[in-house]
Amino acid sequence: MTTSTWAPEEFSARLGEIAELSAEMESAHPGEIISRVAGLVDGPAVVTCSFEDAVLAHAAATAVPGIDIVMIDTQYLFAETHWFAGEIQRATGMSLRVVRPLTVQPDNLWQTDTEACCRVRKVEPLNALLKGAAVWFTGVRRVDGPTRASAPIVSLDSVRNVLKVNPLATFTDEDIATYELLHGLPRNPLSERGYPSIGCWPCTRPVAPGEDKRAGRWSGQAKTECGLHT
Ligand code: SF4
Repeated sequence: MTTSTWAPEEFSARLGEIAELSAEMESAHPGEIISRVAGLVDGPAVVTCSFEDAVLAHAAATAVPGIDIVMIDTQYLFAETHWFAGEIQRATGMSLRVVRPLTVQPDNLWQTDTEACCRVRKVEPLNALLKGAAVWFTGVRRVDGPTRASAPIVSLDSVRNVLKVNPLATFTDEDIATYELLHGLPRNPLSERGYPSIGCWPCTRPVAPGEDKRAGRWSGQAKTECGLHT
């Protein structure tokens, strides 16, 4: 594999190398993945964090100090998540940018059309955020559910022409807990109250013991993803 940096306009010609890189990093630590890819690609990197936990933000801020860490504020995040993001920012000294929907005002779309609501509150802000970016680091994990079970470490998001990197793809829930313990990280208070997966308050409920961890997301609907990762 070449060691020169990769320019975004070359991504589509490097699919083999991207797959090779992804395979090489299957057992790498998240921080190692983040620093290696950020150093390999010639262009800006963005880290999107949902602040369900602090691991991605901590790993990114430690591996690449000053890296652009972003929270997409849908206007419907739990108060606990806002508080938690502030706690992590203070604890790590990370750079945290908050982006919001481009045009919408508070409305009731979550009650009438969750696909449209996620599109204007999550997908469109993400698309705007990634314009001009070369690398997108996400918190996707394979144990999140069937739609994410084969998520690679690195792939090309050909629609947005960014390298999509999932540094936590192989992390289990136990790995997350171990990382939090090792680094003395706080936890989102909702995780102690039956929320193993945390999104917007209108579309997230706590789950019962034994239920799938994402069963509380859009509960009662066929919807399982917000569209950021599909
Ligand atoms: S998760 Fe619910 S409230 Fe949040 S953007 Fe999607 S539909 Fe709207």
